Amino acid sequence: MLNLVLFGPPGAGKGTQSEKLIEKYQLIHLSTGDILRGELKAETTLGAEAKKFMDKGELVPDEVVIGMIGNKLKENTDAKGFVFDGFPRTNAQAEALDLLLTKHQTSITAMLALDVEYDELVSRLLNRGKDSGRVDDQDISIIENRVKVYNQETKPVMDFYLAQNKYYAVEGMGTVEQIFDRLSKQIDAL
Ligand code: ADP
Repeated sequence: MLNLVLFGPPGAGKGTQSEKLIEKYQLIHLSTGDILRGELKAETTLGAEAKKFMDKGELVPDEVVIGMIGNKLKENTDAKGFVFDGFPRTNAQAEALDLLLTKHQTSITAMLALDVEYDELVSRLLNRGKDSGRVDDQDISIIENRVKVYNQETKPVMDFYLAQNKYYAVEGMGTVEQIFDRLSKQIDAL
């Protein structure tokens, strides 16, 4: 199986690149942000609970997102592989993911980390907020909080994959196609 963690700060382009990667490599896209927004839209209890965190740019509790990913893995036992987008976001999530994948007799192949400058992140997010309707993209203080949470809680997750020799940094500035090319080359070299 080809199991990729697409990593990077909010606005790094993980969702855009995931869509292209799943098509090229025939993988399943697992975005915890998308799954959570689906719950919000369907007005489930989980969605209502998650909204409180998401609207402030805080992380939803680990057990919630780990449970969601566990269910998706069970639903897709015949997959060729997965792109994990926006997950794992804490070390506890990374450890839980390793355990879940071991249960399914597989493991993470690589973490691909998109490097993007701060000013570019903010401008991409504000731009997306204009038509996405996402509350967390429309307010500069919420965006700043998401980047702060990323630096404090999520960035350390790269050490987890570094220690397993699975970490690859990819330049995330440029056009969508240029970045996709860099990711594809890295994947083909794995
Ligand atoms: P972005 O990467 O642009 O911030 P996402 O769609 O990945 O957007 O996430 C949006 C929000 O959903 C996050 O700010 C957080 O509240 C919640 N969320 C998504 N994934 C996770 C996760 N793995 N752990 C905790 N919270 C999450």
